Amino acid sequence: MNLPAPSASDPTLVADLNARLRDVPDFPKPGIVFKDITPVLADPRLFGRVIHAMAEPFRGRHITKVVGVEARGFLLGAPIALTLDAGFVPARKPGKLPHRSVVERYSLEYGADGLEMHEDAILQGERVLVVDDVLATGGTADATAKLVRRLGGELVGFSFLISLDFLEGPKRLGPDKVTALLSF
Ligand code: AMP
Repeated sequence: MNLPAPSASDPTLVADLNARLRDVPDFPKPGIVFKDITPVLADPRLFGRVIHAMAEPFRGRHITKVVGVEARGFLLGAPIALTLDAGFVPARKPGKLPHRSVVERYSLEYGADGLEMHEDAILQGERVLVVDDVLATGGTADATAKLVRRLGGELVGFSFLISLDFLEGPKRLGPDKVTALLSF
């Protein structure tokens, strides 16, 4: 699968995003440059263009579920799911989901964590898109993909607002499955 460039139909999107994204050095710990997307979410026109562009490569690919990763993946994943006429599934931090769940542990750019999904959130053979704000090492997205596959879903691809390519997340996830509006 060769995914089209997500912002092909919106040539000024990359420049507009670069102007609004905020780099916060040494957050949440020294050495990490945190990519703060809140100024983008606060601008309704720009937020809408981001949702459209992140969904675009997956139109016509028969996505039935969009999985958003806690917490910023919820903010992007839910509107993308509506855009693609798909259901939304939250992948949550351990202990938050009320029903029977499956769990995956993973390591993060700045720590270790786990993710859970309700065991009935994805049906056998469903075509699934995973959404998050930032791809760093790929540990979070990889754990999410494992949950999807354990439940019998087919992982069609990953859509990120930002990919920190130097941390080699796309390599870990399979570059042909990954799209991002901005790459660093
Ligand atoms: P990773 O598992 O290493 O790919 O990390 C991705 C997860 O951590 C995503 O849920 C991101 O929201 C968050 N994250 C990692 N690095 C950053 C960063 N530099 N800025 C903002 N969020 C980040």
